[in-house]
Amino acid sequence: MKGMFFVISAPSGAGKTTVIKRLMRELPNAVLSVSATTRSPRKDEQEGADYFFVSENRFDEMIKNNELLEWAAVHGARYGTPRSKVEKWIEEGKTILLDIDVQGGKSVKKTFNNAVLVFLMPPSKEELAKRLALRGTDKPKDVKLRLKNAEKEIAASDFYDYKVVNDDLDKAVNEAKRIILRCSG
Ligand code: 5GP
Repeated sequence: MKGMFFVISAPSGAGKTTVIKRLMRELPNAVLSVSATTRSPRKDEQEGADYFFVSENRFDEMIKNNELLEWAAVHGARYGTPRSKVEKWIEEGKTILLDIDVQGGKSVKKTFNNAVLVFLMPPSKEELAKRLALRGTDKPKDVKLRLKNAEKEIAASDFYDYKVVNDDLDKAVNEAKRIILRCSG
């Protein structure tokens, strides 16, 4: 039995990282792909755990060498899914979680039509703005960009297989878990 891709996308501030952390704890067969990015690390982020932080030149090289399964420009930086690990996981029959944006979701679905796309929705625009401001990890200018992108991402997520509203963390995690368990059969 081959592995399967579960793409989890959400506007930033929708609680995606927390939901994914919980899913990783509660789904024994799940693995999480670590992306490469040209964005600079935030204060609490670790190389190889949160992202592989690479230079623009290295990212160009990864594209040229076909090292990325998909990649996209998001919020002014580039992000991509390294191919080698996920291909190994497919062979091992893993439940592969991809924390990627809607452009990445589209590419993955094109290549793997059995990939399951889950979009995590913030409860409201107001709540999203509040969470982004409270998080305090982004500069005000970046928060504004992320809010603008959130609206675009929500509008562009109509091709996703499932939408899960994160108004209550436990409920959202359980719903996502049920979807994953049902789809991975
Ligand atoms: P952040 O900068 O907040 O960590 O991530 C910004 C956005 O980039 C998020 O929506 C995240 O899901 C997306 N992202 C992270 N890694 C990848 C990737 O490898 N490919 C794509 N397409 N998007 C990614």
